[in-house]
Amino acid sequence: MAAALSLASRYHAFTNSVFDGIGENLPGWSESLSELDLQSLWFAGEFGNEFTSMDGKRIMVRDFGIWNHAAGPDFTGCALQCGDEILRGDIELDPDVRDWERHGHGGNENYERVVLHLFMQAPEARMFTRTAAHREVTQVWLKPEMLRDAAQPRRMAEARLGRCATPLSEMESAQVSSLVEAAAQFRLRRKSEKLHALIRIHGREQAVYQSLANALGYRHNQRAFTILTQRLPLKVLLKHDAPEREALLFGVSGFLESVRYEDTEPETRAYLRVMWSCWWKLRNAYVNWLEEPNRPRWQIAGARPGNHPQRRLGALCALLDSWKKVFAALRTPKAWSRKGFTAALLALEHEYWSRHYTLMSEPATKSVALIGDTRVQEMLANVVYPLLVPERGDLWAEFMELPALLDNQKVRRAALRLFGEDPRARTFQKRLYQQQGLLQIYEDYCLEDDSACEGCPFPEKMKEWRA
Ligand code: SF4
Repeated sequence: MAAALSLASRYHAFTNSVFDGIGENLPGWSESLSELDLQSLWFAGEFGNEFTSMDGKRIMVRDFGIWNHAAGPDFTGCALQCGDEILRGDIELDPDVRDWERHGHGGNENYERVVLHLFMQAPEARMFTRTAAHREVTQVWLKPEMLRDAAQPRRMAEARLGRCATPLSEMESAQVSSLVEAAAQFRLRRKSEKLHALIRIHGREQAVYQSLANALGYRHNQRAFTILTQRLPLKVLLKHDAPEREALLFGVSGFLESVRYEDTEPETRAYLRVMWSCWWKLRNAYVNWLEEPNRPRWQIAGARPGNHPQRRLGALCALLDSWKKVFAALRTPKAWSRKGFTAALLALEHEYWSRHYTLMSEPATKSVALIGDTRVQEMLANVVYPLLVPERGDLWAEFMELPALLDNQKVRRAALRLFGEDPRARTFQKRLYQQQGLLQIYEDYCLEDDSACEGCPFPEKMKEWRA
């Protein structure tokens, strides 16, 4: 990775001071995330896997186990390393340390195997966690700074010319270009680190499946897709045939039970009949996840028909039907073929979802691609190249060739703030990697600035870059 992304470290050093302290003062960071979100982030390894317990012991999570869909602790079959000792058992995650007693876990035998209690909040007075047999459970307090990426606020900076536009316009194009490339490399390196950490926890195939599904979630439903794929891992789904897989995905997502059969058109009724014929046999095992607040939260209002999460889930079903073909290109770095991967995704079809946007919509007059060019590009930028570049350095050059297809409001806003009317604004948005670089600068500086550019260090820092 070092040789392939040599500019990433330079950008990191250039931006380092901006990162200091991010996350520590985020107001209400844990309140803004539901317990379900926190469990999902934990299970994705986003808090890391090495911790110091409340009594000062070093803890390493060796196995994150499985997300329990029955009554009892949140994660079962886990393994922790504590010094030379390996502790096997379950993990419980609560927003507040006091929830252990409030929810009656301390007197519940189902929690007897818990080896780790995680929480985000605690009162000043130390509270211990004990099981029904009066065994003390190791505690870890999860802090916002462990969760830098996920804690980043999702907001937009004002659409106006920024203070950095003047020094940027005075910089030679080659210097601006290298700054944008460095920011793009840094962005890819961070995505790589995150994805490879996920691979270490859950294996390559599950990590890729989860990440591709996350990309299908578009902007607003990424977390919901991640939760669904964490709860229905690939190895579970691939044991079932296609109708059962779809019943599981639409059942556990809550979509299947949210639709009244008699309100739908005939083709949908036929589709629902097939899914329900499987779902009623499987449903019992997942009933715990169908109740609030355990259901994934889908954001549907304002979504374009093509981006409706039901249709995206239909695309995921089609992707799973062709999983071997899709994953073949990603199994090893040597196997990579952009042409093969792209063609496999663009060719995905589904008898029902190729002609429907939602379970409530009338069929479209003609078939519509389930995964289009823009979505493929999102997957290339967020999954494929972050996966492969650290393993095959020459792929950075291939990534740099990709044209920009994304029509991203944030990219447009970043270009406006950094370049204004400068004709070079377009030059620096032609390629996908350039868009990624602009997004990184925008997030690192514009979104961290609350002084209307006045206190932003970027304009002055550019002198360092020139030097
Ligand atoms: S916040 Fe900084 S980087 Fe963003 S437009 Fe203003 S000066 Fe430029």
